[in-house]
Amino acid sequence: MAKAVFLDRDETLNPDPGYINDPALFELFPWVAAELARLKKAGFLLIVVSNQSGLARGLIQWKNLIAIHEKLNAILQQQGNVTIDDFAICSHIPDDLCECRKPKPKLILDAATRHQIDLSQSFMIGDRKSDFEAGKAAHLKKSFLINPGDEPSFKAAIKEILETSLI
Ligand SMILES: [Zn+2]
Repeated sequence: MAKAVFLDRDETLNPDPGYINDPALFELFPWVAAELARLKKAGFLLIVVSNQSGLARGLIQWKNLIAIHEKLNAILQQQGNVTIDDFAICSHIPDDLCECRKPKPKLILDAATRHQIDLSQSFMIGDRKSDFEAGKAAHLKKSFLINPGDEPSFKAAIKEILETSLI
């Protein structure tokens, strides 16, 4: 079975000016590509798990979201020779009471089914409590709550994942 690191997107991988709907406004934090390359080399699938309520609010269009993720992968490819394997997106607003919005674990669980992922050998990294709770509810090996847009806590999480997975 595969193992994965599930990654929140906004403020974990990229600055978030709010409801990004234009690839031109999307940039990765400069430390991300090299770190994700280390995870990929260690055999992890990389799966972005993101609440994008701007879709339901009409502030983000799916075609633009797809273009943004193509840019994300193009930057990763250029800077780290690595790409995200899958994007799991909740398009709903909280009032929709959907089954997929984090902190619910459904996006993670469905991705695990798609990619035959062993959740007990997998991890979550995110900057919000909802990320942490989703990882916990999916019974991952560990969920890391990092500081928003923060290089040291992001790198510390990656380091611990790599060390833990050697055992
Ligand atoms: Zn949803």
